[in-house]
Amino acid sequence: MPISSLFEGNRVWAESCTEKDPEFFSKLCGIQSPKFLWIGCSDSRVPANTIVNLSAGELFVHRNVANLVNHSDMNCVAVIQYAVHVLKVEHIIVTGHYGCGGIHAAMQRHDHGILESWLSHIRGVYRDHYDDLMALDPEARTDRLVELNVMQQVRNVSRLPVVQQAWENGQPLEIHGCVYSLENGILQNLGLTRRGINDLHPAHQLTATPPSR
Ligand code: ZN
Repeated sequence: MPISSLFEGNRVWAESCTEKDPEFFSKLCGIQSPKFLWIGCSDSRVPANTIVNLSAGELFVHRNVANLVNHSDMNCVAVIQYAVHVLKVEHIIVTGHYGCGGIHAAMQRHDHGILESWLSHIRGVYRDHYDDLMALDPEARTDRLVELNVMQQVRNVSRLPVVQQAWENGQPLEIHGCVYSLENGILQNLGLTRRGINDLHPAHQLTATPPSR
């Protein structure tokens, strides 16, 4: 497929936007104030705005292989910092998806070369839940690790200093964990929502004066 098809597609999209609303782009230029930060997988089948039916300007997005949030990943941490501190998003949504190639790769006894430094974070989740996962059949095992990985990333987001500072300052901010099905297009909330410092284990609380528990 030639690259020109992208530019042709862009023209069609831009024209359709201005047909529906002649001020579409001038309004977008004015201000960026999304209420949501989406942290999802890079997988081309999981397009963030599309699957939650949001337009340009409504979703701040970070994507990487298997939707990981590592505190040493300055790309991801900078996105979260900006989203929370400057944009003041009210929700951070970590979204995994069934059939994730990154999760599948991390379950293989196979050396993926330089990718292993990334996959090692998923292998750690696999190890932590190994006995429970091995009790499942292979397909259910992969699906469950997708969910467990989302749980771990929700924890990782909520432990970040910028998130805890926001909570301490009374800023409304919720961290959610979701999983998307490639088979039916449905996004499921895993019910992992964290709303404040009290949702963290004391070992991860960074406030100088710990709240009463
Ligand atoms: Zn994926």
